[in-house]
Amino acid sequence: MKAWDVAVIGAGAAGTMAAIRAGQHKKKVILIERNDSIGKKILITGKGRCNLTNIADLDTFIEKFGKQGEFLRTAFHIFFNEDLRGFFASLGLETKVERQGRVFPKTDKATSVVELLKKALSGNGIEILHNTRIVEIAKRDSRFKLVTEDGREIETEKVIIATGGASYKATGSTGDGFKIAEELGHKIMPLIPGLVPLTVKESWIKELQGLALENVKVTFQYGKRCLSSDVGELMFTHFGVSGPLVLDLSSRVMEILKEHKEVSLLIDLKPGLREEQLESKLLHKFKIKGSIIMKNLMKDILPQRLVDRFLKSLHLRDDLKANQITQVQRRAIISMLKAFPLTIAGSLPIEEAMVTGGGISTKEINPRTMESRVIPGLYFAGEVIEGAAASGGYNLQQAFSTGYLAGEKAANA
Ligand SMILES: Cc1cc2nc3c(=O)[nH]c(=O)nc-3n(C[C@H](O)[C@H](O)[C@H](O)COP(=O)(O)OP(=O)(O)OC[C@H]3O[C@@H](n4cnc5c(N)ncnc54)[C@H](O)[C@@H]3O)c2cc1C
Repeated sequence: MKAWDVAVIGAGAAGTMAAIRAGQHKKKVILIERNDSIGKKILITGKGRCNLTNIADLDTFIEKFGKQGEFLRTAFHIFFNEDLRGFFASLGLETKVERQGRVFPKTDKATSVVELLKKALSGNGIEILHNTRIVEIAKRDSRFKLVTEDGREIETEKVIIATGGASYKATGSTGDGFKIAEELGHKIMPLIPGLVPLTVKESWIKELQGLALENVKVTFQYGKRCLSSDVGELMFTHFGVSGPLVLDLSSRVMEILKEHKEVSLLIDLKPGLREEQLESKLLHKFKIKGSIIMKNLMKDILPQRLVDRFLKSLHLRDDLKANQITQVQRRAIISMLKAFPLTIAGSLPIEEAMVTGGGISTKEINPRTMESRVIPGLYFAGEVIEGAAASGGYNLQQAFSTGYLAGEKAANA
């Protein structure tokens, strides 16, 4: 049996970069992928445009990964955003910076990224084994034996697990790496959906399905404690809320929902106006349009589809005229405009989350090498490792950076 220096399991962003880096050190490298082609998930990133990385500085990257951020410091330090852009530029793919520092290929196509990764793999003499799913790893003496689903065996000196998380399973990431690592003695931190649409308790939410609110401020709260808050676009769905703003704030909410049943969501529908400003605006409207019924008047202030629900939540009859509104009712309208409440009860399943939080415990991985502290010679890279960030290119950079470091160290150990 041919023995390899380095075997990499999983040909996503992390695995391909790990294989390329180990190959650059002239090692015999095999990249094993269960799909018939590499980078299936890369193709759907950034809505098919691939938001590769972000131009943010190192500290911002670390902050984006929350409690797991410090673990990534060395990986980011060794191979960071400019290195990644340089890597692609050297292969002929220029990149551009868009809003919030997001970096995309100039071609606007994720396919360009995958094509160039293929080119780099072949340029570095990496052997790729497609349609091959690894189900078990055993260590004999100092070597590893990888067992495929159909019973074949692959022998290698070092092994890198880069099998991704447990989200978007159709791309190949079904959580195999967690099972394999657990059997080898690794601790798996509970898998939680990250960047995921949230479900709400209020059943009337269906009425608002498809309504998008631009420029609102959302605040997630547990009791009086603010969990996360930001301004942006929110979308109502038949089960709850989604849109970039909600996805980005969802990880923190999911952490709390692990232990508690409910989290409040307060939507500030007029974040640009203070309560006093809203009050004088309303008073003015009520004065000049006093004989108009509230249902019609509120259309000047809110999207038409939200008006009925807004008035119902206030227990206000929609045929009430503006000049019949009492001071108490006016104050209630203002409070509701500044904090329209919903109750978050959960999220869509992990399969529908963009990233997986949780995973191989970072306590059991050496952050300077990505090597397992449990099994020497075993390395991890990418989303299989505990921790995930908000959107913006941070997650792909994590995959490329940890892949690079794991490839480098596995080749030189
Ligand atoms: C819709 C969507 C859009 C996204 N957009 C962005 C974005 O624009 N920017 C960004 O930074 N992040 C984005 N992300 C997140 C980002 O795609 C991931 O964090 C990143 O791709 C993880 O890379 P990975 O290599 O660790 O895992 P994966 O890309 O999941 O790769 C794992 C590979 O391992 C293979 N595999 C699994 N098990 C086995 C096995 N047993 N044997 C052999 N092979 C196996 C899989 O088939 C797969 O090819 C997005 C995610 C989704 C779902």
